Amino acid sequence: MTARRFAGSLSALLVAAIMLQAPATAGESEAERYLGFRLLELDGAGVKWAGRHDGLSPAGATAAEAPRVTYAFATAPMTFPGARNCAGLVPVEPLAARSGIAPEALKTEARAAFDMWESAARIEFVETANADRADIVIGAQAEPTGHAFTNVAYEPGGGAERRIERSLICLNPMKRWKIGFDGNLAVYDLRYTLAHEIGHAIGLDHPDGNSALMSFRYREGSRHLTPGDMAGAAALYGPRMPSIETGTVTAPTRNGDAGEPAPPSELAIGQPR
Ligand SMILES: [Zn+2]
Repeated sequence: MTARRFAGSLSALLVAAIMLQAPATAGESEAERYLGFRLLELDGAGVKWAGRHDGLSPAGATAAEAPRVTYAFATAPMTFPGARNCAGLVPVEPLAARSGIAPEALKTEARAAFDMWESAARIEFVETANADRADIVIGAQAEPTGHAFTNVAYEPGGGAERRIERSLICLNPMKRWKIGFDGNLAVYDLRYTLAHEIGHAIGLDHPDGNSALMSFRYREGSRHLTPGDMAGAAALYGPRMPSIETGTVTAPTRNGDAGEPAPPSELAIGQPR
């Protein structure tokens, strides 16, 4: 499966890519609602990266191992026919440069964003130089729109839970970006934005409310995952820390944004609007 995964034509691989419309109300379980997350459902089924020896992998599996997901930055223009979002990617470094952000700093922020999820659940992320072969590709949008989007493509087949084939994360190169919070909600923090999009890239959707990092609206309260975000990742991949499994997980409050100047801001995975 691994060989086929990268050998086939892009159009064939991405035939399963579909539109992600935020937010879907159907399918949210009571547990999700209580814990403050929502799992992504594509065509009526959940999606996740498969572990090397879990139930989604080829036969012979016994004990599950944490999926090892590679990621890379686009170093040349890439096209993904059929992708609803991020169908055209270009290198992301010029985007950073326009905002005075060095390439190394961009990579550091991305790594920190991946580390957030890696510390919350049993999934690992490894940077690779080859974007053509990476599981998650990060690039700038060839056709700028919105702020940031993710495209999740899953492999054909599967039942109630499908295996993610590839995820694309694209940032708008015409927007200004920054590192850290300064209260200006028109300029997004790279780490926060990437962490949010990575959440989509591993199978999470927008939960109700505004407090989670996976919430639809860009906020500058915390650059960390909320208990709800962590519970969502743990629901997909198992908890990294025992305390997440057994500890006190609190549901986010709906009024967490009280007083915040909140121009609507998109971190959408949905159709550009
Ligand atoms: Zn989003």
